Amino acid sequence: MTTNDFQEWYAYHSKAFPGVADWMKKHPETIRFWEMPFEHVELADAKAASREMVTGDLEEPKGFGQHAKAIARRAREIGFARKAAPQAVDGESVYGCPTCQDAGLVAVVDPRAYRAGQFRACSVYCACHAGDVKQNRKFSDGHRAVVRPRFDSTKMFRLDYEEKASDQKAAFAEWLARRIQNHPGYTDFGEYSHETQEAF
Ligand SMILES: [Zn+2]
Repeated sequence: MTTNDFQEWYAYHSKAFPGVADWMKKHPETIRFWEMPFEHVELADAKAASREMVTGDLEEPKGFGQHAKAIARRAREIGFARKAAPQAVDGESVYGCPTCQDAGLVAVVDPRAYRAGQFRACSVYCACHAGDVKQNRKFSDGHRAVVRPRFDSTKMFRLDYEEKASDQKAAFAEWLARRIQNHPGYTDFGEYSHETQEAF
């Protein structure tokens, strides 16, 4: 990860955890040290780890000073799983599960936010084995993974963080219109929901 990537991750993470920025103001020298564990981490993996911390899938450490270490460690795991699992076929990466790329979580349009006129993402567990693992996870202090629905492509619209939000909004509007056209009286889009919302 370059210093620019690190700064981008830090801006992203401190938006999700505003306490981190306050903490850093009191310890301004520390930012240089935070970059160290990210040397062999990719930006996308670090952001994915931050999102897991937001949703509770990655345990938030006690004390903001511990965030960088915890994120970098999880990001290396994500990166390792991503690189280890896929086999390249015709130059394209192949995952055990193409839906979640073996992460176990799928970002989908949050129906409750949508009803309130906002376009946001929420995470659901993937329907695959990696989703089972995530759902059944137990943390070291004994608490269980967050309860959330399983991914169902007939009811949920999957979002891709690499794509532009405006393109995905348009694609979602088309998808929803098609669902309603093919299933008159279609209402189940709104029937799943989740407490955790992520800015999209
Ligand atoms: Zn999956």
